[in-house]
Amino acid sequence: MTDRTILVGMTTQELEAFAEQLGEPKYRGRQLAMWIYRKGVITFDAMTDLPKAFRERLGEFAVINPLQVIDVKVASDGTTKYLSQLPDGETVEFVFIPHSDWDTICVSTQVGCPIGCKFCASGTSFSRNLTAGEIVGQVLIARHRENPNIVFMGMGEPLLNFDNLVKAIRLLNREVGIGARRMTVSTVGIVGGIRKLAQLGMQVNLAVSLHAPNDELRGKLIPAKLPPIAEVMKACWEYFQATKRRITFEYVLLKGVNDKVEHAVELARLLKGLPCHVNLIPYNPTVDEFERPSESAIERFRQILADKGIPVTVRHERGTEIQGACGQLRRQHLATLEVKT
Ligand code: SAH
Repeated sequence: MTDRTILVGMTTQELEAFAEQLGEPKYRGRQLAMWIYRKGVITFDAMTDLPKAFRERLGEFAVINPLQVIDVKVASDGTTKYLSQLPDGETVEFVFIPHSDWDTICVSTQVGCPIGCKFCASGTSFSRNLTAGEIVGQVLIARHRENPNIVFMGMGEPLLNFDNLVKAIRLLNREVGIGARRMTVSTVGIVGGIRKLAQLGMQVNLAVSLHAPNDELRGKLIPAKLPPIAEVMKACWEYFQATKRRITFEYVLLKGVNDKVEHAVELARLLKGLPCHVNLIPYNPTVDEFERPSESAIERFRQILADKGIPVTVRHERGTEIQGACGQLRRQHLATLEVKT
């Protein structure tokens, strides 16, 4: 498969050039783009307005999606988690989350993650960046209907794979037809990346995984060397000024660690004035070191922020029964492989 050309990840222009390489007129490339990105077909045979001979040549020289689904888990609420294999044998996971009026697709940007947040299942290993085609390929597989929201909140740190991330956003926007405002890039706080993203002038949303209101506590939860919170806040202001998009702050609540009254008060002070929204995420157990706070502790934290005028919601859990948290399914898969070998 690897010596064949992978089509997902190419722009219409690139597909036009590819069609010409195979001796076809340029407009065949536009037809390919339409079938692959808009209609989401997964075989060349389904491309009924292409001549049969061309379809056969495509089958010989090209593959559509670089991802092959190897495991699918569906929860009772419809949340669906996919595990896919990449051309080099690595695996990646992504999640489809249905809502009544819209769907959300949570995609990965790296195989594993180099950041190593203490509470996260992805951070235990890092292999490589995903290509733009491997990012877009997840959306094409998980898309159930038009206009899903796309959140770059799966495995990996999107802003450490900046060029491929931006290429994927552009493909999703221009080729797949998903509005930039429906996409959210979630970052641990890579300041340089936030600034670069702001300068691109796209309307994508920014979510910052803060998890602590001060550098000392943040350093304990996120051991990677990161720019201090003050720098992150400055970059967030710039992001807001450039895009006029309200910033989301994600805060995983860990019992007895970052869920105290003093933390909520300090967080409210930190965010004061910035057009933002706080997403409290009760810890989804992955490692024994942490526990999820009680419902009353979660509510207390939420209320303090709300009383201080900070828009805040508690993220309702989806898909825990199918290992919905970041990196869990892949870890389980790798563990099974280890048992087998
Ligand atoms: N690296 C990016 C995006 C991937 S993580 C980032 O840090 O934002 C997506 C979100 O899931 C982050 O907010 C992360 O902290 C959170 N998360 C990871 N493991 C979790 C767990 N076990 N329970 C709850 N949230 C978790």
